[in-house]
Parts: sequence; structure tokens; C-alpha cells
Amino acid sequence: MTDSIHTEPTPSQTPAKKGYVYIAGAGPGDPELLTLKADRVLREADVILFDDLVLPQMLEPYRAEKIYTGKRKDAHHFAQDEINQEIVRHALMGKTVVRLKGGDPFIFGRGGEEIDTLRQHGIEYEIIPGITAAHGASAYSEIPLTMRKVSSSVAFCTGHPVNSIQVPDTDTIVYYMVASNVHDVLDKVAASGRSGETMVAVVQNATRYNQRIFISTLDEFRKRERAVYSPALLIIGQNISQYIEENWYSRKKKVLMTGEAPKKYTPAEYITVPFPCRQVAGADLGAVKSCIEGIGQFTMLFFQNRFAVRYFFKYLFENGRDVRHLAHLVICTSNRLAATELQEHGIIADCRLEAETPTGIGEMLRRQGLTGQRILLPGAEHVDELVAGQLREGGNQVTPLAVYVHGAQDHVEAIDLDFIDEIYFASPECVRKFRELHDAIPARIVVTPADERTAEDVKKQFGG
Ligand code: SAH
Repeated sequence: MTDSIHTEPTPSQTPAKKGYVYIAGAGPGDPELLTLKADRVLREADVILFDDLVLPQMLEPYRAEKIYTGKRKDAHHFAQDEINQEIVRHALMGKTVVRLKGGDPFIFGRGGEEIDTLRQHGIEYEIIPGITAAHGASAYSEIPLTMRKVSSSVAFCTGHPVNSIQVPDTDTIVYYMVASNVHDVLDKVAASGRSGETMVAVVQNATRYNQRIFISTLDEFRKRERAVYSPALLIIGQNISQYIEENWYSRKKKVLMTGEAPKKYTPAEYITVPFPCRQVAGADLGAVKSCIEGIGQFTMLFFQNRFAVRYFFKYLFENGRDVRHLAHLVICTSNRLAATELQEHGIIADCRLEAETPTGIGEMLRRQGLTGQRILLPGAEHVDELVAGQLREGGNQVTPLAVYVHGAQDHVEAIDLDFIDEIYFASPECVRKFRELHDAIPARIVVTPADERTAEDVKKQFGG
């Protein structure tokens, strides 16, 4: 790879190896609707260029450089030809580039224009389909797009711009890009001769925790006040009569998760809405370096979460060492996610605890015969004192090492609490982070703190 080239190379400078580009769909929102193939190439990517409809938290597991190409309020946003240039620029540096788009790249996704540019530059590419918004909305609202004897054809149309709205002669029509012009589309549909009794559905934020569905007849909806629905689809057709309010998705409890999810929150019962309260900057690099160099003084490495694993290994490699440097240590993880992350770094933990809270960790280790250890404890600044205390109580000597800090993240969006049934607070730091964005917690929301300390902080910040 030729990372050092930063301007678009002239033909004579172009490295022999051209990069490779994947134009991939991310699906409509629910992160689990990403395909296995898209997940694989995102893991392989050097650069990910993602747009507005891709939720940033979906990208958290991937190590690539992430470049946002969408529209952001008060800021410059990329025009399509700038995006094309950016894809080409990275590819010409020999990188593996994933251009990740909401839904499917070839359904109102401008994927066609991007491959044109790649063809012109002779750059190799692949296209990975995604679940388009219509399919997501249909499944998560229980509105089949086709149905025997009710609907035997379906069309995908755009509601924008208004002067080019089409009304094809299909049983079901799905309109994309209807944010502020639902009424314009409905006027055209009525003018085309469809009955006023035809059923109409608007599905907003399909497959996301804040999915909302509005059902009506054509005539009724046209009488409503204009409103902005974004992002939303408009579905038209008698297949909508299948709709029930208590559908499978609306029945699930939505829990706002400020840390790693304890086991009781099974996907069968819950939809977890992530609320990130960690950030990676701010590790004490001097302390990290001297702990890594002096690793011989420790007998045990204790990882309390996956972030501790991730950032510890980042610094281990940055200091020119690899897993062999840790060969003499007993390595222990305190939960499943940390153990899995560790395995991705080539190590199977000697001791895997399944601790949902720090309480009792020292005792668990003692039961496994692990006491009197000299433990290196990578983790966050300040907040790991409780874990350190537990380990000390177990008769160990503990050296905490900050490899990341809790703090604001770039992309934290305020959560629409109207859709939330429960909030799980993983630590006092998460309570404070949440408090910066929300002044109060509505009484109907169940609040579940991870431990006493966190419970006290909830009381302090929100009363009650
Ligand atoms: N390529 C995308 C569509 C991009 S056009 C796809 O295949 O889904 C953008 C439009 O997609 C939005 O205006 C909206 O109409 C629709 N859309 C995308 N995500 C959506 C979602 N989660 N819920 C409802 N509509 C969505």
C-alpha cells in the first residue's frame, strides 16, 4: 500500500496495484439487516465512505478509516461528483474501499453513477445488494407487498421531484423520497383515477427503534395537514388491509443500552438501542508504554470489557509488540464480549468469567485458585476503581492502566424517549453522559442501573 500519497496521482505516479471498490448496501437501519457479505468486506476495508442513511453505530466494529459523505446541517456536504472523486482517489492509492449506502445501492442509490466513474478509471469493483427500505418497511410493519388475490404487482417509484411523480398501473405502489411531499404524491394518485377508499400507509424510520406507521384511506389522508415524514415511504394499495397495530415489531420492548448488554436482554424480547458513552482518545500513552515494556513484572492481565481488549492491543502493536510478549501471563476476561474480542486477537482467555457487575469478581477468581497475582488492569480512566477494588479484595496487587476514556462521541444523537420502554445504565459516567442530552426521564420508562453506584447517580441526576 502507498499510504504516503495524498493527492490524486498522475498516470506516471499511479502505483501498479489499483485498489478495489465495493459498492454495498447497508440495509434500512436495523444493523442486523446487513448482509454477511457486506459485513465481510467492511472488515477487510481500508476506507469506508458512508452516507446519511447509514447509522454511524453500525460502523463501530470496523477498523477502517470512516468518511461521512452525507448532508450535515451547517456544514459542507459532498456533491455526487465529489464522492465519485473521493472513491477514485482512495482506490488509486491501492486501498480497499467500501462505498456503503442506505438500503440497496441500485434502488434510488446512485450506485449506477458511481460504477460509471469506476469504469472510466479502470478500477475494479463489486456490487453488494442491500435490503431496500421497501422490504424493510414491509416486513417490520407486516404489510405484504404482494398477496394472493389482493395484489399481484408492485412498483417502486420516487416522490421527488414533484413534477416527475409517476403513478404506474400496479396493485401496490411504494414511493421513496416523500419527506415533505406526501400530499403531492397522493394528489397525483387520486388524479390517476384510484378510488378514494384505496388504502395508504406512511412508514417512517422503518426497521429502527422509532419506526412509526400512519394508516389511512386516500381521501382521508388528503384531508390531513401536510407534515414532514423523514425518512419515510408511502405505500398505496389494498394489501395494507393486512396491517395490525400490534405487529411483531411493535410488541418488542425497546431498551436504551448505555453499555454492554447483560444477558437478560434477549433479542426475542428486546430491541436494544445503543447509546454510546465511551470515546477512545485520551489514553495515557506514557503509562501505556511503560506498562507494555515492563510487562514482565505482572503475572496476570485482566480485561473487564471489549474496549479494554481492543485498545490494549492497539497500543501493544503500536509499541512494536505482539501476543508473544504476553505469553507468561494468566489472561482473564470478565464477560463474553471481552472473551470474543480477545479471541479475535489470537488469544483464548485462561479464565473466562461471566460477571454482569464488578461485584464478586475477586471472589470468582479466588474460587478458581487465582489470588496473590500482580494484575495489569487495562480500562477507562477513573471508572475502573470498583473493579480494581474487587480484585484487590481477592488478595491481588492491581495496576490500573487507562487505554481509553469515557466521554462524548462525535455522533451521539439525542434519543426520542417516546419510543423507549427501559433504560439500562452501565455506569455513573453513562448516567452523566445521558444527562447532557436529556433533562428528565419520563415516569413510564423503567430505569435499570447496573449497580449501587450507578443507582445513586441516577438519583442524583434525575431525582426520585
Ligand atoms: N437506496 C435506498 C434508498 C435511498 S433514497 C434504499 O434502497 O432503501 C432515500 C429514501 O429512501 C428516503 O427518502 C426514504 O423514502 C427511503 N428510506 C430509506 N431508509 C428508510 C427507512 N429506514 N424508513 C423509511 N424510508 C426509508
